[in-house]
Amino acid sequence: MFDAIRGAAASVAVMVGVSVGCMANAGSGDGPSRDHGYAVKKSEAQWKAALSEQAYRVLRQGGTERAFTGELWDHHGDGVYVCGGCGQPLFDSEAKFDSGTGWPSFYRPIRADAVETHRDTTLGMVRTEVRCSRCGGHQGHVFKDGPPPTGLRYCINSAALDFRSKTSTSTRPARPSPGR
Ligand code: FE
Repeated sequence: MFDAIRGAAASVAVMVGVSVGCMANAGSGDGPSRDHGYAVKKSEAQWKAALSEQAYRVLRQGGTERAFTGELWDHHGDGVYVCGGCGQPLFDSEAKFDSGTGWPSFYRPIRADAVETHRDTTLGMVRTEVRCSRCGGHQGHVFKDGPPPTGLRYCINSAALDFRSKTSTSTRPARPSPGR
């Protein structure tokens, strides 16, 4: 009797262990593969060679930078934020606002089709993942607690973006991204 109970408990423990392990190893989102059907496609080796370690972890592995550590959360230039993976314009500085979260935040993308969304159930939460529509690069998540006029908050990783000033042809120069 007690052996049976102990056996059942052990089985539950194993199941929980497997579940947690899968969650920790899961990608960001359970939508289509990050490589499926995008105009810009590269092998993992090519992405690794093209991106900084941090940008690769965010864009290609769905990672999240720590709050208040990125280069762009407190950035206030007049320009366009483009995908760090493929250069597609994603957000205009006009739509950037101070969310207090420590991540670059926007109330809308520069075009509706510049980004795509996927249901993300990792980390025990249901969130809406935001990806670049051209390369599938993970950008962050969108929440419904943003300001007018949309009420949306696109919570984006600095490491997934590059900034291009409207008053200069150069991109911001300080970002350490060897190989790009
Ligand atoms: Fe992209």
